[in-house]
Amino acid sequence: MAVIIDGKKISQQIKDELKEKVERLQAQGKKGALAVIQVGADPASSVYVRNKKNACAYIGIESLAYELPEETTEDELLQLVNELNDKEEVKGILVQLPLPAHICEDKVIQAISPRKDVDGFHPQSVGAMVIGEKGFVSCTPAGIIQLLKRSGIELAGKHCVVIGRSNIVGKPMALLMLRENATVTITHSKTKNLPEICRQADILIVAMGKPQFIGAEYIKEGAVVIDVGIHRDENHKLCGDVKFEEVERIASAITPVPGGVGPMTIAMLMNNCVQAMEEEEA
Ligand code: NAD
Repeated sequence: MAVIIDGKKISQQIKDELKEKVERLQAQGKKGALAVIQVGADPASSVYVRNKKNACAYIGIESLAYELPEETTEDELLQLVNELNDKEEVKGILVQLPLPAHICEDKVIQAISPRKDVDGFHPQSVGAMVIGEKGFVSCTPAGIIQLLKRSGIELAGKHCVVIGRSNIVGKPMALLMLRENATVTITHSKTKNLPEICRQADILIVAMGKPQFIGAEYIKEGAVVIDVGIHRDENHKLCGDVKFEEVERIASAITPVPGGVGPMTIAMLMNNCVQAMEEEEA
């Protein structure tokens, strides 16, 4: 039976470390706020935004909420982002995605100052990550690296297979594993022989967005399996991209859904906010 990697516990450790760091920064008179912008009232987005605000309150960072109506225009949103770019006290800007269809997400992401891009989605942040320079790293992949390291899992020289090539999970994940000296294979919807490639993985990271797709036939005995997917099953229960019960019997370690990767994403967002506070004051 696999060891269950406890994302809730590890994310709590990280938030506690950050809370102490924020106390130290504040004792030195250093302050900062995270601006959280939501356009429209998508219920899933509202839950994510609330969790982010709660995490800010926990570690002691102020959060400024901008709840804009669905019919906000692209120009109005860009203007708000520009105003926040110029506000000294705002150290991080987060625009909750997805945005309504009439607003171009890329345009909005590119309008955020790279100094305040705590989601790590700006092309400059992505470029810095590719060449190993300082910058914000997108939160879900950064959280997975922390989960693995803090669980004592060796990464150097391991074969890591990533399923998925999205800009927010698959691609940055592969690059971060490369940075950790893993040998990396990226797979996607056009990949042939997916089970065969996955069975070569020492570490399998699944970010395909397909509920309970990955079963035992994809797993090498003793592999580490990280499940990024989040879905509701037919009984409305949360589940991932992996068939947890059957994979748990073969893997050496596995993340559950919920309680695996999810909580790490918010902890790493907080980490990026604290990084922004530190750099701004340096
Ligand atoms: P996406 O839809 O943008 O990308 C999915 C990727 O999977 C694509 O690159 C596609 O090529 C690949 N794929 C699809 N079907 C495949 C197949 N049959 N074989 C091989 N590859 C296939 O999704 P995303 O934004 O990367 O998110 C992936 C999942 O992770 C979703 O379930 C999402 O909800 C979840 N997610 C979770 C968190 C978290 O914090 N836990 C954060 C982001 C995303």
